[in-house]
Amino acid sequence: MLKVNDLVVKYDNFVAVNDVNLTVSDYEFVGIIGPNGSGKSTLLRAISGFYHPQNGEVLLDEKDIYKMKPKERARNISFVPEEVDTTFAFTVKEIVLMGRYPYQKQFLSEEEEGFKIAEESLKLLEIEGLSERYINELSSGEKQRVVIARALCQQSKFILLDEPTSHLDISHQIEILDIIKRLNIEKKVTVIIVMHDLNLASEYCDRILLLRNGAIYKEGNPEEVMTYQNIEYVYKTVVVVNKNPVSGKPHILSVPQWDKTSNG
Ligand code: ADP
Ligand code: MG
Repeated sequence: MLKVNDLVVKYDNFVAVNDVNLTVSDYEFVGIIGPNGSGKSTLLRAISGFYHPQNGEVLLDEKDIYKMKPKERARNISFVPEEVDTTFAFTVKEIVLMGRYPYQKQFLSEEEEGFKIAEESLKLLEIEGLSERYINELSSGEKQRVVIARALCQQSKFILLDEPTSHLDISHQIEILDIIKRLNIEKKVTVIIVMHDLNLASEYCDRILLLRNGAIYKEGNPEEVMTYQNIEYVYKTVVVVNKNPVSGKPHILSVPQWDKTSNG
């Protein structure tokens, strides 16, 4: 179980995460939504141990993650950033194997084990065919799969993802989210995911946190959070919420306002 208590993260004097309290149980699939600049990435990075907060704590099974050694933390939490750094020409296989760094290779058998796990991760993401390719020569969708495979290779209980599908078209978004959902259900990985697309968040998440100005404005299941009142208030735009006829999940429709303003 992950517990976030009274978390505050500031950039100089600007409060980006404002007193967040949160509990995530094992095997949950939790989404974080909110407008640009509402603190989603900062919150996720603080939970991953990347940022040290000015106040509060993050406990993983009652252990303070900021007091863990980096390798111990990495065995518990993996992080998939929004932007994939492809400055260095590593092959896909090399990148995925980096996920094994928290496991020291003292013995040859552990190294072989690492190769096996890397291969399995590549297979799960359906990118075995890319293993000798260079990361900087791949498409956005392929790169996303590689970083998710690397996180998977880390074999952590928790996987945190920051808008992993924001550069992808709808079919690739669904493919990636289906894979993440399968990891959650079949491999029992607990998922905390920042999502850009409200409708996809509604489809995939067990629970959603709606952020506003660095604080949790609402949390609950998609039906509780995705009301037109909540979305209109936080995103400052007019929406209609109905149901996806197939899944029954809340579906948000934007209502453009231009015709009204132009006609007075
Ligand atoms: P989101 O992911 O919801 O778009 P972020 O967590 O990236 O939001 O940013 C929250 C706020 O903190 C924004 O106002 C942003 O400008 C500010 N911010 C983010 N990163 C930094 C930084 N490195 N230095 C200063 N301000 C930052
Ligand atoms: Mg962000």
